[in-house]
Amino acid sequence: MLVFTRGDSMIAKKYSVSLYFDALRALHKRLPKNHSKFFMIQNEYRQKVAGELGEEAVMQVMGQVKLPYKFYVFHNLSLYSESLFQMDVLIISPYYALIFEEKNIKGEITFTEQQLTRKLDTNESHSFDNPVIQLEEYEYQLNLLFQTRGISIPIYSALVFAFASRYIKTPPTHKTVLFRKGIKPFLRNIKTGTPLLTEEQLNTLKNDILHANEDFNPFPLCEHFQIQPESLIKGVECVQCGFIGMKKVKHNWFCPRCKIYHKRAHEQSLKDYFLICKSTMSNMECQQFLQLNNKHEATRILKNEMLLKTGRSRNTKYSAIFLK
Ligand SMILES: [Zn+2]
Repeated sequence: MLVFTRGDSMIAKKYSVSLYFDALRALHKRLPKNHSKFFMIQNEYRQKVAGELGEEAVMQVMGQVKLPYKFYVFHNLSLYSESLFQMDVLIISPYYALIFEEKNIKGEITFTEQQLTRKLDTNESHSFDNPVIQLEEYEYQLNLLFQTRGISIPIYSALVFAFASRYIKTPPTHKTVLFRKGIKPFLRNIKTGTPLLTEEQLNTLKNDILHANEDFNPFPLCEHFQIQPESLIKGVECVQCGFIGMKKVKHNWFCPRCKIYHKRAHEQSLKDYFLICKSTMSNMECQQFLQLNNKHEATRILKNEMLLKTGRSRNTKYSAIFLK
């Protein structure tokens, strides 16, 4: 007999800030304002900030949901089916799977067949790809992936606007749009009936999904966006005030702007280098990027547990373990 315990939400993959977000933050920060791609990167970064806020808010709600059956929730999954596809939130249960696509777009929103357009108070208009088309693609790909695993459950999807201050003038014709407050009632109203997966099958599917998740890897971002790494602002970013250009002093870093000292201030900048500039770093590149005084300082800094050393003497290069 199938016995399903009443389920509190089981977060199988919790909300976490993506590496892509960290990388974009660093690129936006280090790109000179007069660079030809500055506004494009700024736009991408601002959208990403809004997206992260929205996804975090939706995942907060998902952490509080209670349903009369067991279910699992995943944040930010990249799965490979016909191609790689990335879902903001996925829920699996014995009865169905459900994809939420989160949108955090300000202004008056109109859905047309191919696009989503928004009008700001200033009368400025912007167009985006219609997320309904995106969602239908995810449903299709997820369905294929389930088929190869012998799983047959219906797949639903909805668009979620995390913040109720958004105004939707014309909603899409055949896709549910939810605000954050509407998530719980929407989930409670999904028809269930006879379970299509056993508890064991559900657990196996959960583990399979976690195992199949591939992190989005567009690094180094300069290559991805076709920006010359040489054009970036170099130096160590102050961990307190964000100023780029901390001074290397004996066994320490000093910020000329906020006057703090910090021994490990270079570590974030080192990480930024691998995310945005290049996948390897030589002693000379280290000296240049962190604005060091000599190669001995670079040698000491490059002896770090987050780096992997390859090659010998003058051909020595370092790469970042966290990107392996
Ligand atoms: Zn500072």
